[in-house]
Amino acid sequence: MTRIKIAHLYPKLLNIYGDGGNILALKKRCEWRGIEVELDEINIGDKIKEHDIYFIGGGQDLQQIEVSKELQKHKDFLTQERDRMAVFLGICGGYQLMGHYYQPHNGEKLLGISLLDAYTVAGDNRFIGNVTIKTDLIENGTLVGFENHSGLTYLEGETEPIGTVLIGNGNNGGDKLEGARFKNVFGTYLHGSFLPKNPQFADYLLELALGFKPEPLDDKIENLAHNALRGKKY
Ligand code: GLN
Repeated sequence: MTRIKIAHLYPKLLNIYGDGGNILALKKRCEWRGIEVELDEINIGDKIKEHDIYFIGGGQDLQQIEVSKELQKHKDFLTQERDRMAVFLGICGGYQLMGHYYQPHNGEKLLGISLLDAYTVAGDNRFIGNVTIKTDLIENGTLVGFENHSGLTYLEGETEPIGTVLIGNGNNGGDKLEGARFKNVFGTYLHGSFLPKNPQFADYLLELALGFKPEPLDDKIENLAHNALRGKKY
């Protein structure tokens, strides 16, 4: 039987706007196909062993301080995991910490783990609202979600965006880019939950992790959720 190992990093600290739903979506989409799932919650102080998929959600600046410190202990290991093409998904606050750093309005710069060549600085506005982006990574071509951040993220080097913004602000509200990808590491500002509303992207991540295309599922309900948000600001 095929088996997949998923790590949920720091769910007690970084987990807002339904981020935990991403884990549920990955787990159920595997189980519906008879793929066995080992799910490990990694909390402060825990060791991290090899997994196929790593997920980290969003949160407030306060929780990011603690996670930023803890992640430094695992930076070398997680970099090795990235380089052997393990899959990572980071949402909002978690995305910011997968880059080089997040500079909040007040206080010290929070170091990230540089899995992505990206950095984030707090801006003067808070971007709140629904987002639709256009992406070439999946066949249906759009991703939807909900953003709530003041951090402005900028990509450098070989780190590519996931897509371009059609509705909403995305990485920084200026360059029309949303999300980031380097190797199999993905970051995005899309909460709400992201993967349940974007089933093709969930399967894209599973395909990268499994090394084969998982069989199609009946995504009628998931697609209704996707289509209800697509192209809508309110
Ligand atoms: N502190 C970050 C910001 O506002 C992250 C917010 C979040 O994860 N929703 O930019």
